[in-house]
Amino acid sequence: MSKFWSPFVKDLVPYVPGEQPKIANLVKLNTNENPYGPSPKAIAAMQAEVGESLRLYPDPNSDRLKHAVADYYGVQPSQVFVGNGSDEVLAHAFYGLFQHGRPLLFPDVTYSFYPVYCGLYGIPFEAMPLDEQFQIRVEDYERPNGGIIFPNPNAPTGCLLPLEAIEKLLQANPDSVVVVDEAYIDFGGVSAICLVDRYPNLLVTQTLSKSRSLAGLRVGLAVGHADLIEALERIKNSFNSYPLDRMAIVGAAAAFEDKVYFDATCRKVIDSREHLIAELGKLGFEVLPSAANFIFARHPQKDAAGIAAGLREQGVIVRHFKQERIAQFLRITIGTPEQNQALLDALATR
Ligand SMILES: *Cc1c(COP(=O)(O)O)cnc(C)c1O
Repeated sequence: MSKFWSPFVKDLVPYVPGEQPKIANLVKLNTNENPYGPSPKAIAAMQAEVGESLRLYPDPNSDRLKHAVADYYGVQPSQVFVGNGSDEVLAHAFYGLFQHGRPLLFPDVTYSFYPVYCGLYGIPFEAMPLDEQFQIRVEDYERPNGGIIFPNPNAPTGCLLPLEAIEKLLQANPDSVVVVDEAYIDFGGVSAICLVDRYPNLLVTQTLSKSRSLAGLRVGLAVGHADLIEALERIKNSFNSYPLDRMAIVGAAAAFEDKVYFDATCRKVIDSREHLIAELGKLGFEVLPSAANFIFARHPQKDAAGIAAGLREQGVIVRHFKQERIAQFLRITIGTPEQNQALLDALATR
């Protein structure tokens, strides 16, 4: 607290990211990073960009990347927005598309950045309870609102909402923007991007941090009707003309172009997930169905906070949320087969 602060700073409740420990050799299964490296073609593209050209500003429109994304999804470049991580893309969506004086709707158990952006931009919100199986109830979103947002698959549950349900939600809310945050869609779902030409109220966001193994590069994107994209561009160009640096533009574009590597690494993560779910079951854990690169698990007899603390002492970190409905769950990122085995070995000794 300082007299120099703007009045609203003291009331801000910032987001708390998962721990990035400085200790070496930890089995780090707490922030949903990909256990495999980025595409070698993406790394080569970024290395080639390091040099004299860094003297110059990057392309403010990141056209090279927008074209790569547009080609990948079969949309127009004018339907694509890119930003410094999907968190930044989401922030611009909140500011540019959700500020209508009516409450934003999102699930009670969801990505904890959403209420933070509501606080930052003064957007009222209502948290809609997931059902007993931790699924979104589409009917709950048929009420007056200033927008709707949810991750699909949801975080931290990993549960997928089918496209038919998303269409129902879009049809029930023709006057609100529905943002589908597809941070984890590549690990088991079908992207709602195939619906953007039919629903001008749909904005789909994605990140290169998870399925494309580029969390350290900070690149995210949105796809939707060109009018929605223009709102995001207006905010972006009123805030930071160059959110993506030269390495990010070429590295992200090359990652989208290397479909073979992408498919192979996603497949490995999915196979490991199914194996880990089966093995955790043998240890007595209950695991929610997951379409993501993490699982959400609880043990009927063991306290989740206790398990997390014990695992930490054994060099394995997982994520535990101190939130009422999910206090007995652990969110565990899918690692390499070796990392997953280290987790299972640590759990078996407890
Ligand atoms: C990881 C994540 C993001 C943010 O991704 P960045 O592109 O790294 O900012 C957004 N939404 C959800 C649900 C996530 O889990």
